[in-house]
Amino acid sequence: MNKKLKLDVLTTSRSLRSGIKDQKKDQNEDSVPSKYFADANTSPKKTERKKRTPVKIKYEETENTLDIKNNEIKLEDSKDETMKEEIKEIEQKWVPSNWEAILENVKEMRKYKTAPVDEMGCHKCVDTKAPAKVARYQALVVLMLSSQTKDQVTHAAMQRLNTYGCTPEIITNTPDDALGKLIYPVGFWKKKVEYIKKSSAILINKYDGDIPKTLEELCQLPGVGPKMGHLCMQIAWGKVSGIGVDIHVHRICNRLGFVKEPTKTPDKTRIALEEWLPKTLWSEINHLLVGFGQEICLPRFPKCSECLNKDICPFSANSKTKKKT
Ligand code: SF4
Repeated sequence: MNKKLKLDVLTTSRSLRSGIKDQKKDQNEDSVPSKYFADANTSPKKTERKKRTPVKIKYEETENTLDIKNNEIKLEDSKDETMKEEIKEIEQKWVPSNWEAILENVKEMRKYKTAPVDEMGCHKCVDTKAPAKVARYQALVVLMLSSQTKDQVTHAAMQRLNTYGCTPEIITNTPDDALGKLIYPVGFWKKKVEYIKKSSAILINKYDGDIPKTLEELCQLPGVGPKMGHLCMQIAWGKVSGIGVDIHVHRICNRLGFVKEPTKTPDKTRIALEEWLPKTLWSEINHLLVGFGQEICLPRFPKCSECLNKDICPFSANSKTKKKT
């Protein structure tokens, strides 16, 4: 090899090595070779930051938009998970169809307040001139008498008791047979004599002659269950602790489809009703439906033809279907 040729080979070899070195340097510093940068003075890192920031924001925005369009709220942290659960709960909450229209119709049918409960219900049996403590005791007694008894019979019995003297002290000192005669013919009057006397003694010993202030304590008194307890909290203390469901409310709620599944006891109806009925209606629903059950939606032979709910009531619709078949 002559000298000139040797020099050319060396130059070419150096150039090639230098080119490969430059290329490797470019690959290490950035995947994009330096020759692609418009400004030779701009460093690859600076350019990279400028390019990546908007790409990231665009990705997040796109994901959220898609989720909202799909009506699915995809949220990432635990706080949003809780919110997601709450939204799911609200969406899944069962409510009966037409319940607002049905209740409006019942209110319309009850507007003249002509049912026995309007004139002789428990709230009408308490001596309004009696001291507050005595009036609360009377509210408890009348609720105990009203179980399985018509309002007219309960009202008359309570009138006799109030005239006789209805305080825990007087009732505790009254012989059983004399108390029995005063309250007869209320349903299960013998058992009620026992419950009223035992409860009166507890009230004197434990509550200074007053009635307990909580539902739990009220329900510990002999003969007092949740229905009576909730109504007592409302009438005596003006507190709404739950819905008072008696046999009328139980029957009507099942007929109207106000329970998700048919219920067999008033207490199960109460639990089912409390799951969806707005709390603002808890205090009035008992009185509203009891009167409706006394006048229109009777236990046997309900007056469906006179009822404003006849076209939207599931019970009425089922009866019509059965008649046709
Ligand atoms: S249509 Fe008949 S069953 Fe239904 S609420 Fe009215 S009276 Fe009751």
